[in-house]
Amino acid sequence: MLTISNLEKVYPTGTKALSGIGFTVDAPQVVAIIGPSGAGKSTLIRCINRLVEPTRGLVKLHDTDILSLNRRELRRARRRMGMIFQEYNLVERLTVMENVLSGRLGYVSFWKAYRRKFPPEDVRAAFALLERVGLAGYQDTRADALSGGQRQRVGIARALMQKPDLLLVDEPTASLDPKTAREIMRLLVELAHDRGTPALVNIHDVALAQAFSDRIIGLRQGAIVFDGTSGDVTEAVLTEIYGEEDWSTTIRREGNDADGGPDTKPPEDKNGLIREAAAG
Ligand code: ADP
Repeated sequence: MLTISNLEKVYPTGTKALSGIGFTVDAPQVVAIIGPSGAGKSTLIRCINRLVEPTRGLVKLHDTDILSLNRRELRRARRRMGMIFQEYNLVERLTVMENVLSGRLGYVSFWKAYRRKFPPEDVRAAFALLERVGLAGYQDTRADALSGGQRQRVGIARALMQKPDLLLVDEPTASLDPKTAREIMRLLVELAHDRGTPALVNIHDVALAQAFSDRIIGLRQGAIVFDGTSGDVTEAVLTEIYGEEDWSTTIRREGNDADGGPDTKPPEDKNGLIREAAAG
């Protein structure tokens, strides 16, 4: 589905944000990208749809060589990649429904979205998605009247309106409280699995990544230093990704409830990662 090889990004400032990145996603998995601040997570996600232009390498979505596309072809290809952002990127003055429908247009300006008449089947699909993300009845509410969690639900519905082949998700929960963060991750993962859509999720919270993803890729200084499942994430792996730290209370233990049910007791936790994620 997605093939990345030898991907490199050097910013005009000379910062080498990514080098020698290579991996494939050939199942509808939720892949968490973890790593310390500045490791290149956001650059990696954005190189895939060329919101950041890679310096060199290969990005292939099914049979499309993304880096060889001209602007028009890229616009079309981007519609196959739904993007969900930390800061939601909604048009604040438009309604929930208008924001969701704008997903049908890919990345065009909101004025075009605003004037566009949408076919009834799109409107029906948008209503169904609003219901699915827990926003039934909110279609006429303006985006700026919503809470953070509700905004991200709109962001998810908008991305899914495109019926994407791939979801690119950049720190979806970083602006949310821990309980809402878990709800949003759970929703995202359920929808990705239901639709068989692979998702790359850039997330700095290790416990959330472990609880909700099928696979974890660890980045350090622009390079992949780990690629495996939650169960493979050991203290040694976290030290490799993040550096020396007491990880003993961060690792998700066998038997932990991945969904953090009501009687989950947060384990004692020196670095706050589990406590945060389990607060819901
Ligand atoms: P992460 O998402 O893991 O925090 P980023 O991808 O944001 O990491 O950043 C990776 C590296 O690239 C950092 O050193 C960062 O300072 C640098 N960087 C990110 N964006 C830019 C930019 N627009 N111009 C120059 N350097 C950048």
